[in-house]
Amino acid sequence: MPDKATGATTLPIYQTAAYNQNSAEDLEKIFSLRKLGFTYSRIGNPTTATFERRISDLERGAGAVAFSSGMAAISAAIMNIVEVGDEIISSAGLFCGTSDLLRELKSFGINVRYVTDNRVENFAEIMTSKTKLFYVETIGNPKLDVADISSLAELAHENNLPLLVDSTVTTPYLVRPLELGADVVIHSTSKMINGGGNSIGGIVVVGKNFRWDVEKFPKLAEFKSFGAMKYLARLRAKVLANFGSCPSPFNIFLTNVGLDTLALRMERSCQNALTLASFCAENKNVEVNYPGLKNNFYHELAKSQFGNRFGTILTLKFGTKEKAFGFLNSLRFALKASNIGDARTLVIHPASTIYLHSSETEKLNAGVTDDLVRVSVGIEYIVDLLDDFGLALSKTW
Ligand SMILES: *Cc1c(COP(=O)(O)O)cnc(C)c1O
Repeated sequence: MPDKATGATTLPIYQTAAYNQNSAEDLEKIFSLRKLGFTYSRIGNPTTATFERRISDLERGAGAVAFSSGMAAISAAIMNIVEVGDEIISSAGLFCGTSDLLRELKSFGINVRYVTDNRVENFAEIMTSKTKLFYVETIGNPKLDVADISSLAELAHENNLPLLVDSTVTTPYLVRPLELGADVVIHSTSKMINGGGNSIGGIVVVGKNFRWDVEKFPKLAEFKSFGAMKYLARLRAKVLANFGSCPSPFNIFLTNVGLDTLALRMERSCQNALTLASFCAENKNVEVNYPGLKNNFYHELAKSQFGNRFGTILTLKFGTKEKAFGFLNSLRFALKASNIGDARTLVIHPASTIYLHSSETEKLNAGVTDDLVRVSVGIEYIVDLLDDFGLALSKTW
């Protein structure tokens, strides 16, 4: 959409801390949430607002709040409703930053209980009266387990609980969790949404349907007048404003450029990932995990939930750490880097890097073994990727 004021075809960067208003009355109204407008860029910024609306529309949400990182978005989404004594039930195949965060929450009096195999019955079994939310990743990074979003949403809602879903790995191109019944969707926009690996960012998108009963979620009582939008209102007015993890408009600009090509990059990367996974699966010395492979435990669920696409991440098991390292060092094109969701193919040995400080149980839960390599597949010409991986695999034994 061109800029209304000037017709500029790219998103204007409002590099400003604050905003002048025409009258003291206007400023008062905006501060008391009786009029829409901008006051201070920690709480809202026009560049950021446009990006928030785009992602919210893609997810079919009621609205969204952007944050300085994916971790900030996850923290905010949780902190918006939990209090001392509350419990979270989460799938165990989590991104390492998220499992570190959930461990950290213990010191604030918030307990987390894990379901290790993503089965809906197990969520039901460990639920208590203290449970405040369900938390899952659409496709666990790097375990690559798949959450059954509609069944989990059904169970959550029967118990008056919201379902929070981290959809970083899938993006709105593969699935719109809100349409399947989820209540809050979180993205690390540092990954595929940006696509160029040039900015850290996160976003929380809120659905339209969950009622957020104030008896169950007393923190939201102050925002009662917002009805079903109280979670969204509090997220911006309290959590973003007080914790202060706002994004920079310039990072939003870069990420918004990436968003324009999300569909093309996802299509290409998913295709590349499937081809590469099938190619590696032919080599008897390596074990491939990718939901797109027919023998994968989650294949049918992934196929129906994600429209016959299976994401851009696969993992390879080599038997030993030495072989995994040998493979990594033999690759010529793939970058050895800790992120995912880049236009370029990225590889890493999670156990010695991003999971270095995790406990054995956390590693086990996340499917991180000593011989595991994670591959985030980019948009390169597939023949080049197959050549690179083929040569490295031939050298590893
Ligand atoms: C990277 C990532 C995050 C954290 O996002 P940052 O932008 O790095 O803070 C959260 N969840 C998943 C699945 C991720 O891959």
